Amino acid sequence: MSMEKIVNLAKRRGFAFQSSEIYGGLASCWDYGPVGVELKRNVKNAWWREMAQTRADIVGIDCSILMHPRVWEASGHIEGFTDPLVDCKSCKQRFRADHVSGDRCPECGGELTEARQFNLMFKTFMGPVEDTASTVFLRPETAQGIFVNFQNVLTTSRQKIPFGIAQIGKSFRNEITPGNFLFRTREFEQMEMEFFVRPGDDDRWFAYWQDERLRWYLRYGIRRENLRLRLHTPDELAHYAKSCVDIEYHFPFGWSELEGIANRTDFDLRRHSEYSGKDMRYFDEEARERYFPYIIEPAAGADRATLAFLVDAYSEDEVEGETRAVLRFHPRLAPIKAAVFPLLRKDGQPERALEVRDILGAHFPVQYDQAGSIGRRYRRQDEIGTPFGVTIDHQTMQDQTVTLRDRDTTEQVRLPIDRLVDEIQRRIEAPFPR
Ligand SMILES: [Zn+2]
Repeated sequence: MSMEKIVNLAKRRGFAFQSSEIYGGLASCWDYGPVGVELKRNVKNAWWREMAQTRADIVGIDCSILMHPRVWEASGHIEGFTDPLVDCKSCKQRFRADHVSGDRCPECGGELTEARQFNLMFKTFMGPVEDTASTVFLRPETAQGIFVNFQNVLTTSRQKIPFGIAQIGKSFRNEITPGNFLFRTREFEQMEMEFFVRPGDDDRWFAYWQDERLRWYLRYGIRRENLRLRLHTPDELAHYAKSCVDIEYHFPFGWSELEGIANRTDFDLRRHSEYSGKDMRYFDEEARERYFPYIIEPAAGADRATLAFLVDAYSEDEVEGETRAVLRFHPRLAPIKAAVFPLLRKDGQPERALEVRDILGAHFPVQYDQAGSIGRRYRRQDEIGTPFGVTIDHQTMQDQTVTLRDRDTTEQVRLPIDRLVDEIQRRIEAPFPR
């Protein structure tokens, strides 16, 4: 299976379009279309539900993208969030120094400059004056908003260590080599949770979150053979991390990072204490001691996760000599939960089908389709991963029953209209794959 197939299907069916396409597009920026926005929102909701709402020991937050510039000094991003780059003196292209071998341009053979450190943060100006004093950055990670609010959350939520703060939001990194569709983009959405623990308990929680996060992907349908854990070698570790494990997914372009789980130690709170002059320590009432908590951070990419669910759900079937694409999404992630079809475009069936659409539509996203043969209508829905199809036929007009078809088994059952909502909701919540 190739990325090209995924990208084509995504465009053809409204999952994702290139940004500013009518102007030739903006490199590595994507817009989610009508079904893509539902898919991505469902992925984020699945994360939020399990990483914030249903846990007594985690609370949520939603911080602004622009932050005080001192934050990025304290975090080490001003100094350390850089890539060494070289420029070609002839064709002016720029490369990561560690991606070229020798001192010649890989594109044109021209002479390369010495490597220079290039900061990956996007800069802008706040207020009317464009000078150094008014420079602010688009956040390169959501985590810092959580750290600087540690005391606010602690006092307002009355949490005790160990506990976590979760956030979903946009981040920006001026990557030199973005690519692979939604995988690496300069503007992206993160799903990060910072879990504060007692120093000494950090190794145990680091292991705990690896298991939890791996299970989350499995629960929503990613196949086990397409996931693996990879421990970072000491030279790969970020300046703040004691250890880090990537959950990798087997994308068509190779094994790549889906999520990183890092032991950030007490680096962040210690630094913010130092730079802000505010005491960011935690007071442990039972032990009667004050300390900087260690932080275990599962940081996932919402766009990467969406892409992984899309890739993993993709399969092809042959029906009557014709190849069709089926997206076998977990019903909770599927953009549209059910499609409603009148078998015939007469005898009152379309009117009855529209009534059924409205009944279901009050509970979850539904589509109505009366165009073409019933087989073709099923195929259109299979391509966007709609798990259930409801058909209104001659018998419906007599006894108020409809057929309910399952995308994956293609099995059909007959049931009364007034039981449809409950039955579809039961199936959405059922363990997957069925
Ligand atoms: Zn060149």
